[in-house]
Amino acid sequence: MSKRSIALGAAVFAVVAPLGLAAPANADANLPSPNGETNISSILSYEDTVKELQKIESNSRFDVDAFTLQEAGTQVSESEQGRDLYVATAGHGPEDVWLQGRIHGNEPYGTDSLLTLLKELGANGSADYDLLREKYTFHFIPMYNPDGSEENVRQTILWDQETNAPQLDAKGNQQRVDLNRDWTLEGFVANESLAYYEYWTMVDPAFGVDVHHQGLKKEWGTGDDVTLSLGISLAPGGPTLPGIENGAYDVLTRQMQVHVYDELSKYGAFNIDRYQVGDGMEIDIKGGVVSAMMLGLNYRGLNADGHRNPVVFFETSGNSSDGSLGQKSRGKLIRQNVLALKELLLGMASGEVQQEDPERWEEIPHQPVTGYQTDYAGLVQK
Ligand SMILES: [Zn+2]
Repeated sequence: MSKRSIALGAAVFAVVAPLGLAAPANADANLPSPNGETNISSILSYEDTVKELQKIESNSRFDVDAFTLQEAGTQVSESEQGRDLYVATAGHGPEDVWLQGRIHGNEPYGTDSLLTLLKELGANGSADYDLLREKYTFHFIPMYNPDGSEENVRQTILWDQETNAPQLDAKGNQQRVDLNRDWTLEGFVANESLAYYEYWTMVDPAFGVDVHHQGLKKEWGTGDDVTLSLGISLAPGGPTLPGIENGAYDVLTRQMQVHVYDELSKYGAFNIDRYQVGDGMEIDIKGGVVSAMMLGLNYRGLNADGHRNPVVFFETSGNSSDGSLGQKSRGKLIRQNVLALKELLLGMASGEVQQEDPERWEEIPHQPVTGYQTDYAGLVQK
């Protein structure tokens, strides 16, 4: 383990607890007990998140700017239910980095993890954070889906602003949209999608990370509990990714995840594998937000210069709507995610990631690949 990693571990632990203090009146009951036990109500609400963003902005030593998409000037700037969509920036480097969490409302720790990292970038004067601030300007989207977060559901609910009620279909069912299948050439169904897409075209990031949750999972071959799965939404070596930028993203996204795997494995407390679905199926979804970024989606000429960028995603184990989110594991999972983000960003900034052997993606535990689950051609056999 490097000295740097040890220092980071201590720093991150120190900032997890204070975040809990930002919670509402019943905050004390939500603070992790010595064994890490916590109440489900410790999950951050939209209001908590906005307050925490404003608090970080005003308390930071180094520039943090929290603002709405309306202030950023996008044409659509509110969620379906009319909530302001927030971004915060930190750092002053020449390259922009996109960090998003909780695009699925029932996947809460993306919000906590990103707020924790944002706070560190605003306050931590160590050489590591100096490097990150010098090299990059970070764009944090801690709660991509505020409506789904408030409802504790995966999707957003299409909303009729005039009647202030959900849009219903002919059978009287609510219309819900998975925001992570909603960046397509055919258009954007939900307001959140078009709003953040336009912001993405304004930022033109160099790369990005998307933080999710998955159900509880056992490692293939060992049966050990998995705490984090590493994902690439267009499968490496699959039908799509090798054809983008002459294969550059097929290499770099694997290097990014290999680096995260190596760095986090040093801590021992975390058990990491590759994200897969079903019996060894890899995902190859073009409508996923981070896929559309890699494909350089140009909707209505908003991305006329054809900007594209590599992105990877993290899947934290457990989610808050099916009871699988461990009550005892909140602090550990947030710490894990913050470390994963930080190690990836430092590795990119220092050039270590770009030196990794992409073939070692095969060494990260996973089921033998049988095929690809796509959103354009169903299941594609390998
Ligand atoms: Zn998700």
